[in-house]
Amino acid sequence: MTLLRVEDLKKVYADGTAALNGIDLTVEAGEFIVVIGPSGVGKSTLLRCLNRMVQPTSGKVLFQGTDTTGVSKRKLREIRRSMGMIFQGFNLVERLSVLANVLHGRLGYMSAWRGALGLFAKPDVAEATRLLQRVGLGEQLHKRADELSGGQQQRVGIARALAQKPQLILADEPIASLDPASSEIVMNSLYTFCKEDGIACLCNLHQVDVAKKYATRIIGIYKGTKVFDGTPEQLTDEM
Ligand code: ADP
Ligand code: ADP
Repeated sequence: MTLLRVEDLKKVYADGTAALNGIDLTVEAGEFIVVIGPSGVGKSTLLRCLNRMVQPTSGKVLFQGTDTTGVSKRKLREIRRSMGMIFQGFNLVERLSVLANVLHGRLGYMSAWRGALGLFAKPDVAEATRLLQRVGLGEQLHKRADELSGGQQQRVGIARALAQKPQLILADEPIASLDPASSEIVMNSLYTFCKEDGIACLCNLHQVDVAKKYATRIIGIYKGTKVFDGTPEQLTDEM
């Protein structure tokens, strides 16, 4: 089943920077796609156009057949909930507990604050706890998010994305600020949980070796253009 189809996607920023010059791609259910390319070639812009955090200049983004560029705000919210986001800088609410951050993914931001006041519903707490146990943070539930190491914070990020019960996870350089040991734990977690839960993933990376290790398919981007789309085996070292 085709989850996402991107047609001739272009993005020119307000200052005239052409970040995407006409990208076509598809994401099938269950794929783990790594988007590779050096810094500044448009990978982040591409992911942000997919959930409309960035408004594309032209082209189409079809999520399960629905063109996201023409939908109502309400429908767009629904589509965004089907796409979990994972960020390079983790984007946790630092003052809140680990548990509250995951509930934030499950319930939305205001509910997370209500939770900070002790008003969480039991089934939601149970689900968030289960997810945190799954990423190996069952002992850290009540710590403040900023007390954790970077690798642990990113695992909270993964649990928060999973809590949305998404169909697609968009991960923008999830390991760029982590040491090699933490990077491996984070990539293993992301890969394993996407596979177990049947979630497709589009993950931006700049490390070709890591891409080859996890990707079912690799997409290469260079200067706003897709320059490679194939299996890790098809990717030569010259890229
Ligand atoms: P990557 O993720 O591959 O590092 P980006 O998508 O972040 O690439 O950036 C692609 C190009 O667009 C770069 O030249 C970057 O400076 C530019 N860019 C990114 N965001 C903006 C913005 N908000 N306004 C203007 N230019 C931007
Ligand atoms: P990345 O690691 O994704 O390349 P950057 O450091 O390029 O991140 O960008 C950080 C933030 O600044 C992003 O929100 C990006 O959209 C924005 N940005 C990047 N380049 C520009 C630019 N030339 N003008 C305005 N905003 C930019």
